[in-house]
Amino acid sequence: MGPINQQLIDPQGRVIRKLRLSLTDRCNLRCRYCMPPDAEFLSSDRYLQPNEYRDIVAELAELGIQQVRLTGGEPLLRREFPEIVTALATIPTIELSLTTNGLLLEPHLSLLKNAGIHKLNISLDSLQAATFHRITYGHALERVLQAIAQAVQQGFQVKLNMVVMRGWNDHELVDMVAYGKQLGVEVRFLELMRVGYACQLPQNAFISAQEMLARLQEHYQLTSIPSPRDSTAFRFRTSCGATIGFIASESQPFCGHCSRWRLSADGILRACLFREGGIALRGMNAQQRQQAYQQLLGMKPAVRGQTVSHAMYQIGG
Ligand code: SAM
Ligand code: SF4
Repeated sequence: MGPINQQLIDPQGRVIRKLRLSLTDRCNLRCRYCMPPDAEFLSSDRYLQPNEYRDIVAELAELGIQQVRLTGGEPLLRREFPEIVTALATIPTIELSLTTNGLLLEPHLSLLKNAGIHKLNISLDSLQAATFHRITYGHALERVLQAIAQAVQQGFQVKLNMVVMRGWNDHELVDMVAYGKQLGVEVRFLELMRVGYACQLPQNAFISAQEMLARLQEHYQLTSIPSPRDSTAFRFRTSCGATIGFIASESQPFCGHCSRWRLSADGILRACLFREGGIALRGMNAQQRQQAYQQLLGMKPAVRGQTVSHAMYQIGG
């Protein structure tokens, strides 16, 4: 092994400062682009425990990780969610945030607030019950909308994520902008990524961010808003006063300034969503983990692959 870097800077000069931390691979929805109806899950004894999350995140914080986004699967399904959040909240330099489908959000809002988690990304692919069900197999759109309203009212910084698919929900682009404007929250339109189960969707379901933009420009003037260099989204202010973003990981990959690693619920640390391999941290002592972090720096490809067989929910989306 070469010299230990005190910061996580890879051979391409990319500084790793963000971590997606998966708490579970399970979910209470089955989004068509993410999880097959008959998905198989890890047995729960393979999940990292609260103290393991704390140790790993504390070590990574020492090496420059600043932002940790809790995800999954659906992170709020993890039985030890309160213990994990409490353990992570003891690491002072970390900003914690959460990505959720919103179904279990409302009863967790006070816990999140007490743990200092103010930033929530909530997935919302449709405002119409039938379309929501067609995409997610879920019936409780109203519960998600209610949780979003509550979170906004309680002062959380909310962003809404919509995976846009032709023939499924692309008729709702303008409705979603209006909804975001009404609530005062940013809506982010995601290109469908060719990850895992999503590779089975017909090719024409994909809509590029450029096409979404062009369709929205028929309704609004869009003014570009600057974003941090390692942001995944590029953003605009619309002439109706909404803020919108696009995550164009297929048509405009952002590998050159990617600052993210991912830790799966069973403790595999990965340098890239589009690379199968990672390093299993479970069972390692602190010294071995330090070596693993250095090794992983060399495992982030310069440019992403075209497709990957594992799914978002398996590695932490
Ligand atoms: N269950 C939570 C949720 O849905 O917000 C967190 C995990 S989910 C894997 C994280 C994000 O990944 C969601 O916003 C989801 O829409 C997105 N996602 C999953 N599969 C995707 C795909 N194939 N293409 C684009 N986005 C995807
Ligand atoms: Fe569940 Fe999120 Fe995947 Fe949908 S995107 S199936 S809510 S993990």
